Amino acid sequence: MTKAYDYDLFVIGAGSGGVRAARVSAAHGARVAIAEEYRMGGTCVIRGCVPKKLLVYGAHFAEDLQDARRFGWRVKSCRFDWPTLRDNVLAEVERLEGIYTDILDRNEVEIFQQRAVITGPNEITLADGSKLTAATILVATGARPAVPDVPGAEHGVTSNEMFHLDAVPKRAVIAGGGYIANEFAGILHEFACEVTIVNRGDRILRHYDEQIRDRLLQISLTKGINFKFNAPFEKIVKRKDGSLRIHLAGSSPIDADLLLWAVGRSPNTEGLGLEKVGVKLGKNRAILVDDDNQSSVPSIYAIGDVTDRVQLTPVAIREGQAFADTMYGNKPTRVDYTNIPSAVFSHPPIASVGLSEGQARDKLGTYKTYVSDFRPMKNVLAGRNERSLYKLIVDEETEKVVGIHMIGPDAPEILQVAAIAVKAGLTKSQFDETVALHPTMSEELVLMR
Ligand code: FAD
Repeated sequence: MTKAYDYDLFVIGAGSGGVRAARVSAAHGARVAIAEEYRMGGTCVIRGCVPKKLLVYGAHFAEDLQDARRFGWRVKSCRFDWPTLRDNVLAEVERLEGIYTDILDRNEVEIFQQRAVITGPNEITLADGSKLTAATILVATGARPAVPDVPGAEHGVTSNEMFHLDAVPKRAVIAGGGYIANEFAGILHEFACEVTIVNRGDRILRHYDEQIRDRLLQISLTKGINFKFNAPFEKIVKRKDGSLRIHLAGSSPIDADLLLWAVGRSPNTEGLGLEKVGVKLGKNRAILVDDDNQSSVPSIYAIGDVTDRVQLTPVAIREGQAFADTMYGNKPTRVDYTNIPSAVFSHPPIASVGLSEGQARDKLGTYKTYVSDFRPMKNVLAGRNERSLYKLIVDEETEKVVGIHMIGPDAPEILQVAAIAVKAGLTKSQFDETVALHPTMSEELVLMR
């Protein structure tokens, strides 16, 4: 540690990765400061995973209340009140923001609540003009929603604004086909909004197993969510009554009250001073780093979404932990990027780990798939015609289960546990040797023959 600098470590961005790196580095004995230009906790806590999941819970009551009648409950007509849910979610976000600030305070991390930019390999300039120095700078500035360059694009909103809407729109168009698009489609649809997903390409959720995403598409269509594929945006016109007319190439325009851009997230590297000090950027303007998160400038490191490796909170947290342990904890650690589980909190949700069938076809000599296509017991009694699909991908040579893909109620909760088995390299026969826990949906995982 050197006293030639104001700090051993200066972290830019107090999100999932930055907070973990700052507090663990400080706990290891480093003198640490962190700058945050918006709110402590970053995207996940303030306008990502957490408020989104709370809205998903809120939305699912629409189906639960409907199903309850078949289970004997006399549910009088219910009314949904968006401001109540919105304000309760925002209050919870505020509570969590306080917890993040406390964690940093308790670990004696100095907090600067303002934007920071890099003005030298060891120099940071804050928005108020003050200059600080650090032996190491860690860029953990995350990513922001991409907005396409289309006339009238400014009339649309991004996921950032979705948590603050005055009212649930009557008609919404969602641009994109990824997890954020499908999650907000599900949420708005459950709140009685007429939703159309518009996609430039011909498929949704392209990183997921084909059979699973087809099942979501089919269930979403049955529920009444509309899809338009191969439909690039031409222009968006705001009309006198405040509504939007959305013009698409090759198909008739759509009128909507809200347009949500969910077309990907770009690393936050704009105006950070990176190029001036020689930090190399790659595709999508992401910071290029090595396996130890070091950039092309030896004193500058980067973790999380700004590196555009895997844009997920648990990955950013692991990268932050690995950085801190390696640099200040005398414990060199690298993140293992294999078998990272992921989910789409749609209605019903999707969860996945390991190789999809398409990837198995490309990567393995021979593989076998096992599929369970079933109607959950609860759906049968509720009269809900929604089938779940679980799928195991097995490497025929080693017999190891190399992929699990699921769509159905609570799939992410079930998959988190099943992912341990895939990570541990368990074989199909070890799955089969496990006695089923009956009656559950997850027992299907050990009953596929
Ligand atoms: P962030 O958490 O984005 O933190 C970066 C911080 O840096 C921000 O607070 C920003 O204000 C600050 N900052 C930027 N530039 C500067 C600067 N110059 N000076 C000071 N501060 C700066 N992931 C999941 O794992 N599961 C989910 O279910 C999930 N759902 C999501 C839903 C939505 C709608 C969105 C948008 C994201 C979701 N994510 C989810 C992704 C997850 O939020 C990110 O992967 C994660 O937050 C990345 O952490 P990070 O530390 O890299 O960046």
